[in-house]
This record gives sequence, C-alpha cells and structure tokens, in this order.
Amino acid sequence: MGIIKLLNTFRREHVDLALSIDIGGTNTKMALIAYGGNIIASDTVPTQQFHNESAFFQGLFLAIGNLLKQIKQDYQLLGIGIGAPSCNENEGIIENPANLPFSDRVEIVQIFERQYGLPTYLIKDSNAATLGEYLFGAAVGVPNFVLLTLGTGLGCGVMVNGQLAKGANGLAGELGHTTIVPNGRSCGCGKRGCLETYVSATALKRTVFELMATTLHKSVLRKTSYERLTSKDIFDAAQQDDRIAIMAFEETGKVLGRKLADIVAYLEPELIILTGGLSKSGILLIKPTLRSMEENLLNMYKGRVRIRTSALGVNNAALLGAASLVWQGEEYQLKAESN
Ligand SMILES: [Zn+2]
Repeated sequence: MGIIKLLNTFRREHVDLALSIDIGGTNTKMALIAYGGNIIASDTVPTQQFHNESAFFQGLFLAIGNLLKQIKQDYQLLGIGIGAPSCNENEGIIENPANLPFSDRVEIVQIFERQYGLPTYLIKDSNAATLGEYLFGAAVGVPNFVLLTLGTGLGCGVMVNGQLAKGANGLAGELGHTTIVPNGRSCGCGKRGCLETYVSATALKRTVFELMATTLHKSVLRKTSYERLTSKDIFDAAQQDDRIAIMAFEETGKVLGRKLADIVAYLEPELIILTGGLSKSGILLIKPTLRSMEENLLNMYKGRVRIRTSALGVNNAALLGAASLVWQGEEYQLKAESN
C-alpha cells in the first residue's frame, strides 16, 4: 500500500470516479470520489429508517442514482468501495451485524456487483478509516500507527509497516472487546469488563452516572436522564468546570492510557489517532490519556508516542479509505493488462 501511482488520467477527457459507501448503524454515507481524494458529491441516508435489507438497498440505490445525476461533467465510474461493520472481507459478506437492519448473512459485494456490474471491494469500517488517515489525513508518512474510533462503541485499525494488520480472516484489531476490568461492566458482546464499556461515548455516560451515584458533588448533569444525556452535554459541562464531568473524562483517559501502553508494547506505533464522536472533546480526553499512557509505558517508549485527533473525521476518512481500494484495484488491472 502507500503511494498510489498516478494513472493516465491526464490523457482522458472524462473524470474517473470511485463510488464509496460507509455503512453505519445510524447513518449510511456515500460519496463520489475522484483520484487524489477529492470528494465530488456526497449524501447520507438514515440506516434505521429501513426495516429490512431489501428496503435498505432499494433506498440506497435510489440515493446513489440521485448522487450520480449531480455530476455535470463526463465521468466513468470505475468501481465501488464499501466500509461496513461486522464484515468478512474475504467472503464479501456482512455477518450478524448488531446495529443494522440486516439478516445474519448479507452478500453485499455480490448485491452491488449485480446492480452496477462494477468491481466492488469490502473493508471493515475501522480499517477504512485507518487507510483514509494514512493516505490523506493525520497519518500521511507514518507507517506505524493505531486508530481508535470512539463512538457508540470502540473500533480499531492497526497499520504496521504501511500495511493494514488484518489477521487470518480480516478480523484483527477488536481492541474494544479486550478486557480492561475483570468482571467489570457488562458489554453488548456478552462479556464483562470490555474496554468499550469504559472508553466510548456510551461509556462516558455510564461513568458519569456511576460518579453521580457514588459521590455527592454538585453537577448540572444530575438534571438530565440517562436516555437524554449525550457526550456533548458532558463535554459542555466540563468546559464549565463541572466536577463530575471533568472526573468522567479523567477516568476515561486513565483507562484508555493504560490500554494504549499495552498496545505500544505490542506494536510500537509512533502515533495514535483518536476519531469518532468522543474524540471531539479533544484535549479534555487526550491530556489524561497521555498522562496515564506515559505512567504505564516501559521506559524505552516514554515520550515517543504521539496521540492526536483525526484530520478528516471518521466518516470522510472511511469514505476515502474505501474509495482507495478502487484505485488500487484499477492500478492492479492496468498492470495486469500491460504484462
Ligand atoms: Zn465486549
């Protein structure tokens, strides 16, 4: 991976485009992307408005048709890149997705190839974001880094020597479900004490409610119910020096820093990128995370690992990363033809 060689685009009158799709539990985003990462047009459909997969694909194809109509110049659609959770990249399927209105096994690559007759590539959503940051964002020129998406849950992508670490079946990097507290908080996966139950937007709320139950500190957050509270509310309260909110960020950073120190021992990344909703709290989260990581690092790593937020935002990073698979596929085909 790494540098994608420039294709013969200058000699062509039309523009080559990749269609990129980022399927998420709340929204599904799509974009038409030119070579070099220029997003020409984009749109979003709310995933949960569809009650089953056939309604979902019908709605998505309609939105894609409307998106293509927006392109005023001549273009050629070269292929489709799809980022999705719970996917098996080798088989081109989405399996047992927790937050999508899908059946247990959706042959998504086949569905798109049948619809558009174009090469279609599938990649795990967090890997797509990792690739996007590597090619276009905060990790350009950084061959060893780890990306964490901190949203409803905690996703992870690992770049080692400029290659995504995928594992035997493309399922490597499920950091969110590694244990951080034995017999700790219960997790949606069925286990207890998983990292994402302590470090994610949802986890931050749980921490706030725990702190409110175990301390008597005054807090504006006491006025809001669990259902209505958002991580943005907690961020706003922390900005106003609300003690519970600040303690919640401190706790979250402490736990995350401990886990990152382990990750550094496994992989020695030079950079850790935080992305997703919770990362928007920026320094409020990064400061305690960095402190805790440094406290737990082996001496030889101290002061050498940077933590920063995404340069692109998780959605654009994933869209750009998924689109890059189309360019790589195309380059491969051109090479194969010239041989
Ligand atoms: Zn879990």
